[in-house]
Amino acid sequence: MSGAPSIEHVDRANVDRTLSIERREPRAARYGYAIAIAAVLCALAARAALPPGLPFITFYPAVILTAYFCGLGPALVCTILSGVAVWYAVLPSNLPATGASSAAIALILFGIVVGINLILIERMRRASDANAALAQSTRQLMVELQRETSLRMANEQLAEKTLLLDLALQAADAGTWRYCVRTGRAQLSEQMARHHGFGDQPIEIDVERDWRPRIHPDDAERTLRDLGAAIAGRTKVVTDFRVLLPDGRVRWITGLGQVETDAAGAVTAVVGLSLDITARKEAEAKIAHMACHDPLTGLANRTLFHDRLDAEIARVRRHGATFALFCLDIDRFKAVNDTHGHSVGDALLRIVAARLQAVIRTEDMLARIGGDEFVIIQTQAEQPESASALAERLIGTVEQPIELEGHTLSVSLSVGIALAPADGHDPLSLYNSADRALYRAKAQGRNTFRFAG
Ligand code: GH3
Ligand code: MG
Repeated sequence: MSGAPSIEHVDRANVDRTLSIERREPRAARYGYAIAIAAVLCALAARAALPPGLPFITFYPAVILTAYFCGLGPALVCTILSGVAVWYAVLPSNLPATGASSAAIALILFGIVVGINLILIERMRRASDANAALAQSTRQLMVELQRETSLRMANEQLAEKTLLLDLALQAADAGTWRYCVRTGRAQLSEQMARHHGFGDQPIEIDVERDWRPRIHPDDAERTLRDLGAAIAGRTKVVTDFRVLLPDGRVRWITGLGQVETDAAGAVTAVVGLSLDITARKEAEAKIAHMACHDPLTGLANRTLFHDRLDAEIARVRRHGATFALFCLDIDRFKAVNDTHGHSVGDALLRIVAARLQAVIRTEDMLARIGGDEFVIIQTQAEQPESASALAERLIGTVEQPIELEGHTLSVSLSVGIALAPADGHDPLSLYNSADRALYRAKAQGRNTFRFAG
């Protein structure tokens, strides 16, 4: 902002304009005007163009005009010249006296003219000084007034901007921060301190000592790396990280920063905002979960099942691994719906899902892919023994009586099993093999399992 005019500079220009201060003529010109006025008067007096006695009187306004337009110095010159003019022009034609007495009278008149003129000049000088002092104090007053007005307006604008910024930060639940590169310390605003669980007041912290332990171990290193990259590249930084709050909650934060440089171009600090994005992250996680899970039972859905099946088939192809694919279907489930209603059927599906989940290992996968249809991917190596054992446990757990809304329900499960790669080299053929085995289990009496092979 070095090229901008200062407030004082602008004020002075305004005041000069307001007071219409006139720029005076150069000194030589002013003296020229004075001499010209006096010369004209002398010429008039010498030629007796004016009535007798009048040239004598005209010297006074001449001196006053000269003083007014040309200043006091030229007026003094005009005074002396007018005295001389009286001497040479007026006396001989208007006074009868001769010799020494005429010279004395001329001298007296000269003295009177010059004396009166000097008194007039002195009066005007005083009036002019008083005017100048008044103009000066008025100008001073107006400069002060305009400076005061400008400052007040600047303060009001600053206050308004600060208020708007505060409101915007509050509306966005945003905090501000400033990281000093030299000290490794950061100043956090009240809101950012709150985001990090540092209390409700603005605070200055040491990033390594105070900030790092509060950040999720998977995020701290990466976030500091992003900050370092921004400092090295003099760029902006935008990074998400998790804060581990003292009460055990996890808060997601987006940090946005911009580097500050000194006159030599070296980065001195990074300043920025922190935004609490926990709600957004939770919503994203919820949406991602919903896309891959069955809302009724919470199990994996068809999408997640196919991803896992593809991954297991790839493992078989790459490493020669084996696994078993189970297709499960509840026997005569429709009758439960028809007898007890759909909501009891839903509750039964949830209980069956929980029981199935309880008998598989955590590394195996259980998914619900249809009404009462489930699938399991079992990755245990010893086949078909492991698959038979699991099938028996699955059937055994489902056939246990189920208490629901005052009724004791009994259902059973049919299971079809396909072994990879023996019963299929790709996901579809393997699934079809397991489904055909399930169909055989149903056809051969239900509440049992069959292998595809
Ligand atoms: P089967 O022994 O041959 O399997 O006979 P089933 O009665 O179980 O017949 P099937 O498996 O073909 O029918 C499944 C039924 O599950 C059909 C549908 O009414 C019911 N169903 C599908 N989805 C839901 C659901 O989300 N909730 C409830 N309560 N019932 C469902
Ligand atoms: Mg069924």
